[in-house]
Amino acid sequence: MSTFKAPKGTYDLTPPDSAKYLAVREAIAAPLKNSGYGYIETPGFENVELFSRGVGESTDIVTKEMYTLTTKGGDHLALRPEGTASVLRAALEANLHKAGNLPVKLWYSGSYYRYERPQKGRYRHFSQVGAEAIGTEDPALDAELIILADQAYRALGLRQFRILLNSLGDKECRPLYRDALQAFLRGLDLDEETARRIEINPLRVLDDKRAEVQKQLVGAPLLRDYLCDACKAYHEEVRALLTTAAVAYEDDEKLVRGLDYYTRTTFEFVHDGLGSQSAVGGGGRYDGLSEMIGGPALPSVGWALGVDRTVLALEAEGITLDIPSTTAVFAVPLGEEAKRVLFAVVTRLRRSGVAADLSYGSKGLKAAMKAANRSQARFALVAGERDLAEGLLQLKDMESGEQEPIALDSVVETLTSRLS
Ligand code: AMP
Repeated sequence: MSTFKAPKGTYDLTPPDSAKYLAVREAIAAPLKNSGYGYIETPGFENVELFSRGVGESTDIVTKEMYTLTTKGGDHLALRPEGTASVLRAALEANLHKAGNLPVKLWYSGSYYRYERPQKGRYRHFSQVGAEAIGTEDPALDAELIILADQAYRALGLRQFRILLNSLGDKECRPLYRDALQAFLRGLDLDEETARRIEINPLRVLDDKRAEVQKQLVGAPLLRDYLCDACKAYHEEVRALLTTAAVAYEDDEKLVRGLDYYTRTTFEFVHDGLGSQSAVGGGGRYDGLSEMIGGPALPSVGWALGVDRTVLALEAEGITLDIPSTTAVFAVPLGEEAKRVLFAVVTRLRRSGVAADLSYGSKGLKAAMKAANRSQARFALVAGERDLAEGLLQLKDMESGEQEPIALDSVVETLTSRLS
């Protein structure tokens, strides 16, 4: 029988590499936990309409990339392609916004699913850590989130990333810009699908990666010239706060992002070592999303950083994370009786908070010491019948290679003090 393989566009995280992913998730979450963001977890699937209304009917994510299914009970569900709509839905459902403490600040971490053409850095199952600040219009929040993402990337050691920043305007000024852009785009020579996009979501045409399209876009009206005074002032404040925090960014007038819900501030973190899939994270303000999914007006801002691409970015910069070995003590029993004794020792060590492991099965000394080496333990504890008869164990320092007998009675105390 042929063995099963992970589905196309997916991959498994296995040790030792999986430790890197955990470390990246933790590094991204740490500044959020430190800044008033509470942890939220939502289901891996939602009603399809949440995304078609929230993310946008005309976006690639909704029209081409969603994994949808109909249950036996007739529910139309979609595996979540992104986090924001779900988090806002959950916050509304739990009435978090009514607790009187706005903004509601939340962070999350999980799996997302998009039916995309797989390539390096683009998968059908990927992982994000995200943050949302719900219910408050305040440029300081937009700046806070950008600063926290920057802090997370810097803590990981990343340096070759850039922050692209733009404002998409609001419901006052964006429609004027939209009209002007549509008029410009209608005069271009574009394929049928793009022509359709002009009518549904003209801003997305600016995002078209094809050179022949980009060439024609030279001279397109820029949103910057249409921003209303309120949006302009808001954007200036975000920029000023970032500058004061010494977070460098680049103004990018063409940054529109692939989701319909964004208003005002939008930003993307791009990494220069990743080739075509260079966006490691992105986000922005979504003041209208709550109303789009049936809630009250709740101006909000958030981001999601891709864990997979952040790991690729680390590799591109040649950064190895300092991940401490998980096992401190590795026990090597020689014989049945020694196994029973060391099993009990390992259990006691673990209960006292020392990370310990044991050589299982009936390996000989050589194979067991190899296992001890592989575990990267600081100490090996070797027990043979003769030592045990005298109430002793051999403690081997795996760094110096030195070995000495220690008393079985006080093994836990000895090891805790040596490891501290
Ligand atoms: P988006 O919601 O498309 O802005 O995605 C936010 C981040 O999630 C991106 O910057 C990527 O790091 C990551 N991401 C999105 N789609 C994928 C994918 N198909 N494979 C891997 N990472 C992804």
